[in-house]
This record gives sequence, C-alpha cells and structure tokens, in this order.
Amino acid sequence: MRLATLKRDGGSRAAVITADGAAPVEGYADVGELLAAGEAGWDAARTALSAGEARAFSERDLLRPVLHPGAVVCVGLNYRTHILEMGRELPTVPTLFAKLERALTDPFADVELPRPSEQVDYEGELAVIIGTGGRDIPEAEALSHVAGVTVLNDVTARDYQRRTIQWFAGKTFQRSTPIGPWIVTLEEFGTIGPQELSLKVNGEERQRAPLSELVIDVPGLVADISRIAELQAGDVIATGTPGGVGEPQGKFLRAGDVVEVAIDGIGALRNTFVGSTRQ
Ligand code: ZN
Repeated sequence: MRLATLKRDGGSRAAVITADGAAPVEGYADVGELLAAGEAGWDAARTALSAGEARAFSERDLLRPVLHPGAVVCVGLNYRTHILEMGRELPTVPTLFAKLERALTDPFADVELPRPSEQVDYEGELAVIIGTGGRDIPEAEALSHVAGVTVLNDVTARDYQRRTIQWFAGKTFQRSTPIGPWIVTLEEFGTIGPQELSLKVNGEERQRAPLSELVIDVPGLVADISRIAELQAGDVIATGTPGGVGEPQGKFLRAGDVVEVAIDGIGALRNTFVGSTRQ
C-alpha cells in the first residue's frame, strides 16, 4: 500500500495511491494522524483502497507524508562509498543527528537555497517511517515497528555543517529537506536491499547504490535509536547517503538546479532550488 498526504480545501488529507490516482482516507488530515490511530487508521486506509474512489492528482498536490513527526533522526556515514569519499573509517555504531520538523518540505516543492551558505549539497537517502512506537525494540522485531519507507534528500550546507563539530547547523535550514512522494509499506516494498537509490542533478546521475550497501541496516538503526529514546508513530529515520555527493567534486547546488532522488519500488521526489528571497 502507498500512503500519501495531499492538499485539500486549504488543508490536507491522507490518501492511498492507486493506479487511478489518490483515494482520500476520511478522518485523517495526514499520514501522521493515520499512523497514530493504529489499527483504526489502517482499517480506514484499506476501506479507501477498496472503495475505489481514486481521483487524478498533480505532483504539486503532494505534501510531505507526515506533516508533524515527533522526531526526525538522521544517520551520517552509513554507506561504505560515502564514508570512504569523506575520508572516514567504517563505523560500528551509527553517527546520529537530528533535524527540526521545520527543516522538512514537500516532495515537489521549490527549495530555497540557504542564503548564508556557499556550499549547499545534496544527499539522496532512504527514509523509514515508524508505524508502531516502542522503547528498546529488539532488532528481530524492528521491522514490525516500521510503517513503510520513502525518499528523502538530506540537503546540507557543508560550510555550516563544518563550522563546529556539531553538524546540526548545516542540516536543518528552514524547509530545506524534501521527503516523499509517499510511504510504501514494507509488505509492498519487500525486503530492503536489492532496490537501488539514485540521484540526478539536472538529469546527470551523481549517486547510485543498492540499499544493501547500508553499513548499519534498518533493524540495527531502529534498535539503536529506540534504546536512546522511545520511537513514536510518524517518526522519521533518514538512513544515510551513498557516495557521489557534490562536495568532494567541488560541485555545489545553484539556483535553477533540479535534483531528483529515486528509489526502486517507491518513486521519486524532484525539487528545483531557487535563490533566497531573504535579505
Ligand atoms: Zn545524510
């Protein structure tokens, strides 16, 4: 099943995506509310799917699936190729950092280049959305806590990432991080591994890697993070990016650039970067 959040009547509505379009899931403003409702939310989604009242929609109608995640936890340095290009050693524990909710933006939104940065870079990533919360989740049970997967571009201002040893400043500029276009349940997506992630800038491929190259896999991440703090429905875990980011090549994003991130079995998000209107 594919769960999305679409604009509707000045607000929003959760929806299931079908071959014909999007069928609204009445009673839930976004996928976050649906997941928080547990079985009642899933029942409503299945009802919407079987009712078959899907309507066509445009990319610009799609909002980030979870509008208000309680936590956005990101993993740095989790693909061998990216770790080596950044000149670091392979980890045995994840490098974790967080983003503010307000750093997230919609899957086809224009993204304003963070104005004070001269070094804005892309990072294509698999994002995991928690369905059933929990604390101290064992690795063996971790996937049963995952609602599904989606795509995220962990847009990073490298100069701000490096101005101190804390990465936070470079990672959480206002509305800099697109996520979507929808959440694909693991039941539909299958085993996480063989699917490839790819990223293009203005049509030129810069990143490509199978998800099997994650150094610390999704169950390992869920187990580790849930030992630190309870995971809750709608929480987002961005699992890290493979090699091919712009910085080692001296290539940074400029106004007018179009970045597309795709993962087999999910789909793609695509954003145009625009100059800042702020003084
Ligand atoms: Zn990242």
